[in-house]
Amino acid sequence: MADFYKILGIDRNTPLKEIKKRYRELARKHHPDTNQGSKESENRFKAISEAYEVLTNKKKRLQYDQQQAHSRRGQGRGARRPGWGHNDGDFDFSGGFKGGPAGAGGHDPRDDFRQATEQQPHAPNMPTRGFDLQFMVEVPLATVALGGRIPYTYDKYVTCETCGGTGGEDKAPCAACRGTRQEVRTVTLEVAIPPGVADQYTLRIPEAGGEGKNGGPPGDLLLKVITQPHPLFRRVKNDIHVQVNISPELAEHGGPLEVETLDAMKTIQVEEGTLTGEEHRIAGEGAAILWGKKRGDLVVKFHIEEA
Ligand SMILES: [Zn+2]
Repeated sequence: MADFYKILGIDRNTPLKEIKKRYRELARKHHPDTNQGSKESENRFKAISEAYEVLTNKKKRLQYDQQQAHSRRGQGRGARRPGWGHNDGDFDFSGGFKGGPAGAGGHDPRDDFRQATEQQPHAPNMPTRGFDLQFMVEVPLATVALGGRIPYTYDKYVTCETCGGTGGEDKAPCAACRGTRQEVRTVTLEVAIPPGVADQYTLRIPEAGGEGKNGGPPGDLLLKVITQPHPLFRRVKNDIHVQVNISPELAEHGGPLEVETLDAMKTIQVEEGTLTGEEHRIAGEGAAILWGKKRGDLVVKFHIEEA
């Protein structure tokens, strides 16, 4: 289980203010944009964001701490616990996202299992729904604003390939899954981002969670959309704000100016006698208005360069 405290370099008594400070430092350092898109820093960044999300949310933190204590206890029991992957019992059977272990920022499905096996009576042949999985995903601003598709890679339970999900014989359990019938596999999914989706919105991708057992249905994948900061653009609801530097000559006399939008270049007319801080709205060049075809505006704020 990922140690969120270790990831952020803090301990259980670190005050919230300090956690926030620590997170900002680490997020800056490991942001994919400042690391030439390195896969390692992307993973680091993901881990830092997840740790921060959980440890700064009272409810999630409590659940996380309980899970951690739980798995530490479990480690001492050795052979009596057949390892992980044994998603028996009807935990989460209702199909709802209960905010239980699967929703507690529990990004390691093994921990869900530990909880599930201890809480549920053993019913090995019962059809069981797979786990819901919840993660955060960083999405570029332009994709959040205009929609698009992004690849997302994650781990989930699938049927054990070696035994085909039988778990082997009682006396000779499948060596690959140790009789648990499932194994963890890393999968990549193309995720559709709806145009104009709000920051922090959670997308539900049905049946992309863990596979069910004994004919049970798969769980869902829940992805919380986190907008990546953009070097130029800032989103304010459906509008996109951008600051543009102009020369004192252009500001004084006015004239045409090429401006970059989210998805194109546009020529606007700078008015004569423009002052720093004045704005020009380009209608329909902002973010999409969710579920509609219309778009907000691009708000260009002029800044006159020093002569
Ligand atoms: Zn197997």
